[in-house]
Amino acid sequence: VFITFEGNDGAGKTTVCLKIKEELEKRGYPVLYTREPGGSKIAEQIRDILLDTENKGMDFKTEALLYAASRRQHLVEKVIPALKENKIVLCDRFIDSSLAYQGYAREIGMEEVFSINRFAIEDYMPEKTIFLSVSMETGQKRMNLRGDKNRLDLEKESFHKKVREGYDQLISEYKDRICVIDAEYDIDTVFLNALDEVMKV
Ligand code: C5P
Ligand code: MG
Repeated sequence: VFITFEGNDGAGKTTVCLKIKEELEKRGYPVLYTREPGGSKIAEQIRDILLDTENKGMDFKTEALLYAASRRQHLVEKVIPALKENKIVLCDRFIDSSLAYQGYAREIGMEEVFSINRFAIEDYMPEKTIFLSVSMETGQKRMNLRGDKNRLDLEKESFHKKVREGYDQLISEYKDRICVIDAEYDIDTVFLNALDEVMKV
């Protein structure tokens, strides 16, 4: 089973994902938790280029291509083998991030970004996507708490607002796949609600 987690920066994806992994393992399920961009050696090297604050002048299409390249490598090296072993794959970000960040917020166009990703991932789409929904304020607060500055943290609030608009389009387009969880609540509540959705699959 292939499940992805999406949401704005600071929504709590990583925290929730890791708690779900722990709980599923307690219940005896084999789980792979992994993240994007990164998740394998080559893919992590691409992540480093993407998030380097010195690379803030990167061309947007170059950025989109690097995300797609990182996604492909991680998919082939980590996700596909785990799916073949019948593991539950919990992936922290996937194609929807590219559609929202590069396609919509960077204004490359969702369809264009989809097409390079179709080349990268072929037919490997997640069966279920959990979208963690937070207000800009909460996202910002959680991002500040974390304190790990990267290139995107230099973006203005208007950028993050556009990312959310992009996600909103995806949410209405892929109603059957994307499930929205209110992530304003405390971590335990969000975790339990997300776990419910995961158990349905
Ligand atoms: O989710 P995580 O914190 O690992 O993401 C790392 C950074 O990459 C974030 O700042 C996120 O906004 C950015 N990102 C992006 N485009 C993507 C995926 C992530 O700009 N497609
Ligand atoms: Mg994270």
